[in-house]
Parts: sequence; structure tokens; C-alpha cells
Amino acid sequence: MSAVPHAAAASPERLRLTEIFLSLQGEARSIGWPTVFVRLTGCPLRCQYCDTAYAFHGGDWWTFDAILEEVARHGARHVCVTGGEPLAQKRCVALLARLCDAGYEVSLETSGAIDIGEVDPRVSRVLDIKTPASGEVGRNLWSNLPLLTPHDQVKFVICDRADYEWSKGVLAEHRLAATCDVLFSPSFGQVSPRELADWIVEDRLPVRFQVQLHKLLWDDAPGR
Ligand code: SF4
Repeated sequence: MSAVPHAAAASPERLRLTEIFLSLQGEARSIGWPTVFVRLTGCPLRCQYCDTAYAFHGGDWWTFDAILEEVARHGARHVCVTGGEPLAQKRCVALLARLCDAGYEVSLETSGAIDIGEVDPRVSRVLDIKTPASGEVGRNLWSNLPLLTPHDQVKFVICDRADYEWSKGVLAEHRLAATCDVLFSPSFGQVSPRELADWIVEDRLPVRFQVQLHKLLWDDAPGR
């Protein structure tokens, strides 16, 4: 954690946070930009490849004012609200609006298991679609998909060839590529980046291949 959290017993405008830190955005459309990450605590899912299990429990209560103050201290234009599953805390939606009002380029990383309908349209939503090998395919909230706009992105983390085929089917069935950017990412240590890249090229799939920059740079250390 980058700063001492502020006590907030009397304020309803508060959230449980695991960390706030400055790094480079490691994935999706804003990859490479200096970005302040606001990591909310808690997630109702348990994907087998999860790299942020340290955010499942613990954390500290922060007021919105304290969060905004700490975000401003880092001096970056991009802010990414992530988790865990940030939308599991209902007040996350109000924080996203506050960040937009403050003039930041705001993105939200969400599991796709919780309704995104109340999220401020200025926010770029990066919505996971959980594949069978994630272990959480049953949690996909399919009613989220018609809510997506070109401002949003959809992400599949591919664990094996069967996941790839399944994801291709979802892509076609829901015509996702016609709505927004679709990202295919290899599950670290389960599918080689080269293998997934070859499959995409071979099929001329209308998706963006990506590897997670922060894993290459910092080996996925917390707070980076
Ligand atoms: S939704 Fe994200 S934070 Fe939650 S278990 Fe899956 S990968 Fe981890």
C-alpha cells in the first residue's frame, strides 16, 4: 500500500481497498500508459489462474476523498479500478463517476459476473468472459454483453485449445468483434504466447492478441 488509509467510520462513501499504486498499464487498450491502479478488496469468483488472490481478503476502508487524494498524488492521467472484483462493492460505481468527474481517463477491470449497467458511460469497461478452463464459466452474466459499446473491451484468458475453440464460438455467436475490441490472452504458464498467436493468425480471427506487460517486466509482483 502506498499510503496510510484514512479512517472513515462516519462516511457512507467509502470502499475497502487492498492497494493504490502507480505502474504501467499491463494490458488492454491503454497498455503502456502510466496508470494509477485502485485495487478493491474481495472477489466472489475463484478462477484457477488468479494472480491477485492476495486481494480476496483484508484491505482497509478508504473514504472517496482519501482515494481521490492518493490518486492525485501519483500524477497520472489514467486510472484503472480493479480487484478482485471491484463491482462486488456496490459503491464502486459512485467512485468511478467521481474519478471521471475529476477528469481522469478511467477504466474498470471486471470479471463479467456482475451487472455493468450502472457504470458511468465515460468509463472504459474491460469485461472478462470466463472460459471453461478458468473454472468459473458458470458465473458469466450474459446479459452484460448487449450493454457493451465501442468504448469497452472484452477479454478472454485462454488456458488450452478447448478454451480457444469455445471462445471462438462465443465470439461468433454474440458478434462481439462488431461491438468492441476483443482481447485474447494466454493464461500464463498454461498456453504459450506463440501457440495462441499462431492459432489466431491461422484462423484470421478478428481479435487482438495480448500478453500481460507487467508479467514480462516485473514477474507479476504485487503493487507493480
Ligand atoms: S475474477 Fe479476477 S480476481 Fe476474481 S478470482 Fe477470477 S481472476 Fe481472480
